[in-house]
Amino acid sequence: MQCIYRTNNSYDAIFTILQGELENKGIKFFVKNEYVSVTMDYICCPEIWVENNDLKQAILCVEYIQNININMQPWICNSCGIEIEKQFKVCWKCGESNEKFYINL
Ligand SMILES: [Zn+2]
Repeated sequence: MQCIYRTNNSYDAIFTILQGELENKGIKFFVKNEYVSVTMDYICCPEIWVENNDLKQAILCVEYIQNININMQPWICNSCGIEIEKQFKVCWKCGESNEKFYINL
């Protein structure tokens, strides 16, 4: 197995989106340390691991999502019209989702 993504932020949007995307693609993955935890001298960072034979496709997902995330802007909710920060995929006020997050590779 190989680690394809590691973050030091429990609220990293890419970490969440990536899991959904891997699921959609039918790529089996394993999450290590779902949340950041700090022990005496070591920080456990959330990580996503995949099987070696899924590695190539999984890395394509990571690159694609990172690219989208960089280009993404705050968005306006279609349903209630308020502006939502780019890292949220669902409107915090009415629950409407931003369809830009549904990615077709
Ligand atoms: Zn809304």
